[in-house]
Amino acid sequence: MLKVAKFGGSSVANSEQLIKVKQIIESDADRRFVVSSAAGKSNKNDYKVTDLLYLTYAHIKYGVNAFDIFGLIEEKYKKIVDELSINYDIEKDLNEIKTMLKKDISEDYLVSRGEYLSSKILAEYLGYTFMDATEFISFDYNKKIDLVETKKKFDSLFDKNKCYVFPGFYGAMPNGDIKVMSRGGSDITGSIVANIIDADMYENWTDVSGILVCDPRIVDNPKSIKYITYEELREMSYMGANVLHDEAIFPVKDKNIPINIRNTNDYLSEGTYIFKSCEKVDKKEKPPIITGITGRKDFWVFTVRKAGISNVPGVIFKALEIFTRFNVSIESVPASVDTFSIVVEKNAVEKYQYEIMNALKDELETDDIMITRDIALIAVVGRGLVSNIGIAGKIFNIVGENNISVRLINQDTDEINITIGVENRYYEQTINCIYDKFMK
Ligand code: ASP
Repeated sequence: MLKVAKFGGSSVANSEQLIKVKQIIESDADRRFVVSSAAGKSNKNDYKVTDLLYLTYAHIKYGVNAFDIFGLIEEKYKKIVDELSINYDIEKDLNEIKTMLKKDISEDYLVSRGEYLSSKILAEYLGYTFMDATEFISFDYNKKIDLVETKKKFDSLFDKNKCYVFPGFYGAMPNGDIKVMSRGGSDITGSIVANIIDADMYENWTDVSGILVCDPRIVDNPKSIKYITYEELREMSYMGANVLHDEAIFPVKDKNIPINIRNTNDYLSEGTYIFKSCEKVDKKEKPPIITGITGRKDFWVFTVRKAGISNVPGVIFKALEIFTRFNVSIESVPASVDTFSIVVEKNAVEKYQYEIMNALKDELETDDIMITRDIALIAVVGRGLVSNIGIAGKIFNIVGENNISVRLINQDTDEINITIGVENRYYEQTINCIYDKFMK
C-alpha cells in the first residue's frame, strides 16, 4: 500500500505541530511520500508565511525596506529548527534568500520559499529525503501542469527504497524558472504525486476532522461527512465549501485514487473519504439522502420577458453572448414560456449593469427586463437524491413553512444537486431549516 500524505499550513505551523506530524507518519509505514505546505498560523493572531512572502515582495517592488517583514519569517523558521533540535543549516538557506531580496527578484521564486523551507525542515526531522519540486513538477508553456513530463522526470530521480518529502505549491517552467500554483496549491501537488506514483490513497491532513455537511459558521456543530464522491465534492466546493483546492481532484480522479481528509490535531478520527464512486460503502451503510448543504450569497438575476420566447430560436443564445462580451460567466438560465432568467454573480456584473441592460433591450427587442438583486443560491448536494423520491418537494415545503419564498430552482438531470435561490437575508435560515429537516 502506498500513501501520499499532504500536510497543510496549520499542521506545520510550529514545532508542536511538527511533532504530531512525525507521530502520524511513524504510525503507518505506508506513509512514505509527504508533501508540505508553508508554515501557516499557530493561532488567530499569527501570520501565514506565504502571506508574509507576498508582502515582502510588495515591499521590494515599491522600494520599501523588506527586511523587517522577512525577519518575521526568519524568526518563525529558526524557532522551529531550534525547538526540534534538527541538524539543518537554515541560516544558510535564509541568507541565500536574503541576498536575492532585490528589485529584480521573481515573485514566484520568493513566495515558493515557504514550502521550500518547511519541506526541508520536515525531511530532516523525519529522516526522509527532500526532493525539490523544481526537479519534477513541470509546467508547459501554457502554464499548465504537464503530467507526462512530471512523471518522466520523477521516475528518473526516484529511488524506491527511499521515503520523500516534497514542497507543495510550485514547480518549474520549461526553462527552469519557478512557477507557483494558485493559493492552496499544495493540495494539487499532493494529488499530482499520488497520480505519478500510483498511490492507493491520498491523505490530506488539515485542521478539521473531515468535510462538514454545512459551514459551521452557519449551522451549530454540523455533522461531518463520512463518504463523498468526487462529483459531490466538486458541486460543494463550486458552491462555496472550502476544504480542498478545486483542481486537486483531477489528478487523483484520473486514476481512481481515494482522498482521505484527516485532522492532524485528532489523528485517530477517520475523517472524510472521497471516492470516485461510493457504491461499495453505500451497500454496507445506507447513504444519507443529503450529503452536504452549501451555497453563496450575492447573485443577480436578469429576467427577460418576451411573448412566446420559448418558440424563438437563438434568443437565449444572443442574451448569453451579451454577457460573454462583458466577460461575465453565467451561473444558470432557468426559463419559462414567456421569460428566461440569467443568474450571474453580482461582483462580475455590477459595474456593467447599464451597458448589459441596454444591449439586452436593443438586441433582443424584449418587452421587459428586470434585475432581481441580492439572491443567495443554496445547493443541496447528494448522490442519495436520485433514489429518494419527493426530496425536492420536502425541501420546498420546509422552506415554505419557514415563510421563506423560493425565488429560483435548478436541478440537473444527474440529480446530485438541487439548487434554490432565496433572498440573501434568508440564506442562513434556509440552510439551517434544511439541515434540521434532513440531518438531525
Ligand atoms: N502556502 C500556499 C498558500 O498559502 C500554498 C498552500 O498552502 O497550499 O496558499
